[in-house]
Amino acid sequence: MIPEAYSADNPARLSPSDPARLRLKPLGFVDTGTLDEISARSINSGGLTMEVCALCGKQAQLELSHIIPKFVFDYIKKTSATGRFRMPLDNPNIPKQDGEKKKLLCGDCEDKFSEQERLFATNLFHQFQRDDTQEFEYDKWLSYFITSVNWRNLHEDIEWFQRDRTISDEKLKILITSEQVMKEYLLGTRDNLGEIENHIFFFDRIKETDNKEIIQNGPHVFFRRSVFGYTYITHDPFGIYVYSNLAGILICTIIKATDADNWVNTKVDINHGEIQMPQNITSPLMNEIFEYMLECRQSKMSDGQKEKLIEKIKSNPEKLLNSKFIEFWKYDKDLEGK
Ligand SMILES: [Zn+2]
Repeated sequence: MIPEAYSADNPARLSPSDPARLRLKPLGFVDTGTLDEISARSINSGGLTMEVCALCGKQAQLELSHIIPKFVFDYIKKTSATGRFRMPLDNPNIPKQDGEKKKLLCGDCEDKFSEQERLFATNLFHQFQRDDTQEFEYDKWLSYFITSVNWRNLHEDIEWFQRDRTISDEKLKILITSEQVMKEYLLGTRDNLGEIENHIFFFDRIKETDNKEIIQNGPHVFFRRSVFGYTYITHDPFGIYVYSNLAGILICTIIKATDADNWVNTKVDINHGEIQMPQNITSPLMNEIFEYMLECRQSKMSDGQKEKLIEKIKSNPEKLLNSKFIEFWKYDKDLEGK
């Protein structure tokens, strides 16, 4: 379904040049210069450089953690025609084999996260991808998983905001306080998230929409075959969201909603609950997400790269026909024909 907030005459929609519209560089970018600089907060103790775990704060040998869990990238690679993965807004001529990794967590915290990831992957992610199942019962793992992924996004983004000084001290303070709340919840020193809310939204098949721009840009292939996440701040009206798209499953942590926000059947209880359909979202965030899709669609592959890809597909046409890409590509073609 298309969120109803997305319409050309919606006053809440901001143009890319509007200074009120601020978005971080998405995680798809790999900037090796700054990666080294921010990969770990290091403290120098007696000539030995020890790293500090971003979650528990203990000095430890840090592991390379995925910002967005690896099973999502593995799923896309496994069900694609080429066995490769492309970052939507990255240089389209360099196929990526894997998601972005950072030295972030110690072994103990990494283990804590991976247990909840496993529950999300088995109980929800793979069922949705396989059968389009959208009604689920869930336990504490869902809220924990959403918080863990979006906390990693937020943690990275705060460092960026601090360096870049693009937001006011007041807003930065809200981000830092929220990150602390999420961190304490993840560590188990608090059992709630205060005012912060987690939401989940399944990107279903679009039956009909009048928006030609969306239709022309193949929304099914885009949302169901991509992975990305970042912090989005809208200044007027004021709202803060941290969100990730996991191959068509949108997980969103709302730090501050605007008056225009209306999320139906998407809220995730901290303990347990049931997700029911139909879902609907009215939010400046949805305008932003479609805007992001249009930006990504403008970054095109070179002719040489296209030819290489075609050769690869020709050598194994069965794989293309059975790929998930083709399934969603057909949905896009159906939508165009209407
Ligand atoms: Zn730790």
